[in-house]
Amino acid sequence: MDHLRENNGQNIIQTAEILCIGTELLLGDIVNTNAAFLSKELAGLGINVYRQSVVGDNPARLTAALKEALERADLVITSGGLGPTGDDLTKEMAAGVMGKKLVLHAESYERIKSYFARRQVPMAESNIKQAMMPEGATVLKNDFGTAPGVILCNEDRTKTIIMLPGPPRELIPMFENEVAPYLSRRTASVLRSRNIHLFGIGESMLEIHLHDLMEKSINPTVAPYAKEGEVLVRVTAKGSSERECFALCDQMVEVIRRSPVGEYIYGVDVGSLEAALVTSLIERNKTVAFAESCTGGLLSKRIVDVSGASSVFVGSIICYANSVKVNQLGVPPSVLEQYGAVSEETALLMAAGVRQRLGADFGISITGIAGPAGGTPEKPVGLVYIGLSSEEEERCLRLMLGGRERAYIRLSASSYALNMLLSELKKQNRT
Ligand code: ATP
Ligand code: MG
Repeated sequence: MDHLRENNGQNIIQTAEILCIGTELLLGDIVNTNAAFLSKELAGLGINVYRQSVVGDNPARLTAALKEALERADLVITSGGLGPTGDDLTKEMAAGVMGKKLVLHAESYERIKSYFARRQVPMAESNIKQAMMPEGATVLKNDFGTAPGVILCNEDRTKTIIMLPGPPRELIPMFENEVAPYLSRRTASVLRSRNIHLFGIGESMLEIHLHDLMEKSINPTVAPYAKEGEVLVRVTAKGSSERECFALCDQMVEVIRRSPVGEYIYGVDVGSLEAALVTSLIERNKTVAFAESCTGGLLSKRIVDVSGASSVFVGSIICYANSVKVNQLGVPPSVLEQYGAVSEETALLMAAGVRQRLGADFGISITGIAGPAGGTPEKPVGLVYIGLSSEEEERCLRLMLGGRERAYIRLSASSYALNMLLSELKKQNRT
């Protein structure tokens, strides 16, 4: 009901500006993380942020900045200057701009008093200032500090100022707990996204294929994001309900699935390769074990990062030395001698060995040259073999990840291994 009433009025909030207050910001002593946080949150609520600005603790400039921002936008969110000291002026100036007087807010006064009592420190007289509120304002309680936040509207509710305390550990929970629910009642639309995860395609190739879609699509919008070793395409729709948004997003996801980049998609809203793999193994009731040489446990670390890994991940053998490949995985010394530790033959035997010895449905192995030393003309730095073994299947993937540093080669090898098993599981599903 509340929602309908708010939206039927002409007091819907469509545009906002962010005004951060503090001389330390102007001097560069602190970084304006509050503006970044607020912009992101407002975008998520479907409110257009058209400007961010910063002013020092100066009454005339603060008043001018508030007036100008209110002329342009429906909403101004401020951060800082709500404390007890003389240079904390936000409430006073905002009340002035809206033509309101400051009056004592009894509830805030009691809350501040008990805040000090709990900490057994005497309350300074100046703290009473924090309980003075513009008349008619909505007070937002501060669970992590003394300065309450304030929502102040003009008479016909066409202009709103929301004042938040400067410290991020106070501002963030206040926004999440009180401001976001308030604003969602005062916006006409919602924004929702789908994240499409792709592996094995670079950002530039993705741009080539999706360029037109990204340029032309307005609702939903389509935007790429490069993540470490993989890319994400975010599809974001604006609508009057969550259902409407997801329907718009899902149509676009289908279009992208059918495009040339579709074959690189490993999931939608799945979080990460390792999370997608754990889910996929759980769905099929399968287990996996790893034999890791050049990744030295990185692959295992990544799968164990996912909660729920215990039901699908059996364990690993880190077989960095050839003696471990022989003694723990059963790779014959003759194979190592003839083909080398970095070879298809060794990778396949490592995968089969770990699967059998640890009793898993799948065995995955990684053996490669991570560099920077150890490369030869026939086996350069970046050459990696990934083996896969199951009862039905034995496969090996040969990768050339050269031209990069050790950390990249190891991370990338572990991503290819995760993706290889994920593709295998999908393939089994189809047959
Ligand atoms: P206090 O009661 O702590 O005085 P306040 O609302 O008056 O709170 P300020 O005095 O303006 O806030 O800022 C307090 C502290 O909060 C700053 O010293 C800084 O560490 C942090 N802070 C303020 N503004 C920002 C901002 N825009 N981004 C990140 N941190 C900020
Ligand atoms: Mg202060």
